[in-house]
Amino acid sequence: MSFLLPKPGGEFLTLGIMGGTFDPIHIGHLVTAEEARQQFALDYVVFIPAGAPPHKDAQKISSAEHRYMMTMLAVVDNPYFTVSRLEIERQKPSYTIDTVRSFFQIYKEQLKLYFITGADAILDIITWKNYETLLDSCFFIAASRPGYAFSKLKVVLGPAFPRVIQKVHLLEIPAMAISSTFIRRRVAEGKTIKYLTPEAVEQYIYKNRLYVNEKQSINRF
Ligand code: NAP
Repeated sequence: MSFLLPKPGGEFLTLGIMGGTFDPIHIGHLVTAEEARQQFALDYVVFIPAGAPPHKDAQKISSAEHRYMMTMLAVVDNPYFTVSRLEIERQKPSYTIDTVRSFFQIYKEQLKLYFITGADAILDIITWKNYETLLDSCFFIAASRPGYAFSKLKVVLGPAFPRVIQKVHLLEIPAMAISSTFIRRRVAEGKTIKYLTPEAVEQYIYKNRLYVNEKQSINRF
């Protein structure tokens, strides 16, 4: 792994893995990670931009290198945050089970893992590769906008709900009212994105002319 974390064999580690496409990363993601770090006493949060998100068309997202660079720029001033290229360097879809296993291969039983992502992504968890093993391996923190009800998870997850609910914590984050889709759309429409994402990310977007292709951005969702 290409990021700085304590060497294995030392103290017990409680890590948050912040999984997402991050196209682009925004304030909602950062607030989520910081809130999770505090509430769940995480030693570090490792942001892992998905290389090839399993449920997405690679043609419709920005390159992994752009998403990685934006994530780096966004977290650089937080000593508890780091970014991993683990999924980007994988030459196949970014299955969460493979990522979680990589961490346990390194830290063995000296590790407690929380996988942090959006509640809407968690809604699909029973379609994820080896989801039962995944639920046995780590905890999940599902970030939601205020007002999001766990009952929605219950309806969608059906019979799998009791098993899932034991491992998933719901975290209400007002800043998650911001979304990557909203930012891409605003750029495409020539509207300001100031304060929605760190300034360095905003500048990176403009410098690299990301999301300016109106048709691609607006029709993407
Ligand atoms: P997504 O479908 O793009 O996102 C669903 C919702 O969750 C969106 O509202 C999104 O908001 C939000 N979200 C995504 N990542 C978030 C984060 N870290 N914190 C807070 N909110 C977040 O989801 P995705 O990005 O493709 O996938 C999320 C994670 O699940 C990734 O790590 C992916 O690899 C993993 N995943 C694994 C499997 C599998 O193993 N088979 C399948 C699907 C997803 P924004 O658009 O604003 O981010």
